[in-house]
Amino acid sequence: MNDYIIKTTTEDMTKQLGERMALLLRQGNVITLSGDLGAGKTTLTKGIGKGIGVKRTINSPTFTIVKEYMGNLPLYHMDAYRLENSDEDIGFEEYFYSDGVTVVEWPSFIEEFLPAERLDIVMKRSGENEREIHLYPQGSDHEFICKELYR
Ligand code: ADP
Ligand code: MG
Repeated sequence: MNDYIIKTTTEDMTKQLGERMALLLRQGNVITLSGDLGAGKTTLTKGIGKGIGVKRTINSPTFTIVKEYMGNLPLYHMDAYRLENSDEDIGFEEYFYSDGVTVVEWPSFIEEFLPAERLDIVMKRSGENEREIHLYPQGSDHEFICKELYR
């Protein structure tokens, strides 16, 4: 499997990466975002939202597990952080196999519910404003998205 690494050096660059990614997304795509607090997961999601055509401001869904936004496609922004010690199925399939795109922050806490085909992204802080963004596509559709992004 190819390893795709993209570096950004500003918050805006990370948003722009999200916007470019959004143009390649289709209904049913699932993107997982892993990385420490402040790595840029929500920033990348804001870019994805902008690229999908969401007009509302996207914030961390800390108090609700899923927030829904409407753009050209629905965007489901999920934060699984509070599900760390839970094995409850909150109806994940309705999001993952839906008419929209789902972005999952803290996917490790809901690993057993994630679809096999997805785009795993790991974000690392490599400097004050530098972020290393690793893309791990699962399945050929997601491999294609990464190849296009990486060009
Ligand atoms: P997370 O959701 O992973 O906790 P956020 O996206 O909420 O992270 O926050 C990232 C923080 O890092 C923001 O304060 C942002 O301004 C800052 N930042 C600095 N450089 C970058 C960069 N290259 N990409 C993304 N965020 C950056
Ligand atoms: Mg966040």
